[in-house]
Amino acid sequence: MNNILVVNCGSSSLKYQLINMDNESVIAKGLVERIGIDGSNITQKVPGKPDYKIETPMKDHVDAANHMFKALTDPTNGVIKSLDEISAIGHRVLHGGIKLTESVLVDQHVKDVIKECFDLGPLHNPANLMGIEACEKNAPGKKNVAVFDTTFGMGMEEKAYLYAIPYEYYEKYSIRRYGFHGTSHMFVSRETIKFGNLKPDAKVIVCHLGNGASVSASIGGKCVDTSMGLTPLEGLVMGTRSGDVDPAVLQFICNKEKKDINEVLNILNKKSGLLGLSGISSDCRDVESAYDKGDKGAKRAFDVMTYRIEKYIGAYMVALGGCDAISFTAGIGENDKGIRETICNQLSFLGVKLDKERNNIRGEARLISADDSSIKVFLMPTNEELMIARETLRLTK
Ligand code: ADP
Repeated sequence: MNNILVVNCGSSSLKYQLINMDNESVIAKGLVERIGIDGSNITQKVPGKPDYKIETPMKDHVDAANHMFKALTDPTNGVIKSLDEISAIGHRVLHGGIKLTESVLVDQHVKDVIKECFDLGPLHNPANLMGIEACEKNAPGKKNVAVFDTTFGMGMEEKAYLYAIPYEYYEKYSIRRYGFHGTSHMFVSRETIKFGNLKPDAKVIVCHLGNGASVSASIGGKCVDTSMGLTPLEGLVMGTRSGDVDPAVLQFICNKEKKDINEVLNILNKKSGLLGLSGISSDCRDVESAYDKGDKGAKRAFDVMTYRIEKYIGAYMVALGGCDAISFTAGIGENDKGIRETICNQLSFLGVKLDKERNNIRGEARLISADDSSIKVFLMPTNEELMIARETLRLTK
């Protein structure tokens, strides 16, 4: 028995995967939705079996975890006979602050720190903690491991993570750049080195381009820099997030539009990015199809988004003092050959050359640069669940 259960809780949802670590295959994956509201339901998918779907009231995450374990052990549609067949549980946790810098076995101290970090991750950390406690209640005695989205970014040096604001704010409130999508950047940077047969200390730039988007620069899988900051708002242009702006813009909008700072931050988080610039959609596919039909707003959004990515890649090459590989991942990075081509064309003066035929692919690990490209370019699908399972196995073996 070598099954790791990976749990990712949102405020009203619980996603899970049971992974057999002997061959890293997914045995079952499921989603509990609408926890605590009308229409709570669970859907579990198992290769080769019909979907297991039940709609029943679930008042909280403890109820949801109870249904997850029931689904996994269901005599007809389940995949295990009892919880004994789960060796440990790995939890995705957004924020570990400055105290939890590595994946850890959960104990009371770890739970206390996750709680202390509620103000750093107000949307995620409370749900993540509820998920841990729900598993502790439903599967007493099982080891739980917390894997933080911020761990990867904790590898940054002070010169990369500090904001140039009065230092006392770092000392008093731990205001610094943390970086997010860390589990994805960790997975993709390491997989790039493995898959590409690169030297162990290879310099890799990972472009995680999804609804949320970020770039990272790493050496041998250790983070040197990453584009998100104290919150996931900094950096690239995203589906609805602005990424980098002059902070004075906030005050300017407040004054002109008679809004308070929270309203303006909400605009930067939810109404900006591709959506704000195009006026069409936050979804890259919609923006691109409008662009193809000649829509000016869509072109504007596409251009600002790709230009920002290109600038970050350039900056990170300097930060790394060179670059052995660039990997594209997440929804846009894995599926959109056009964006990969646009970005790599801008890097052609450095000798970066895509191979059109190789780039004509979706969602599969592959070298997509030409043999004579100065820097190797890869499509590398991310797999945060597997990374969490690997960390959980490492800490509980
Ligand atoms: P997140 O996990 O951050 O919610 P994803 O990684 O699922 O986001 O990425 C979602 C984005 O991927 C959307 O902008 C979507 O348009 C884009 N995407 C998915 N498939 C394609 C495709 N075939 N071509 C272009 N973009 C795509």
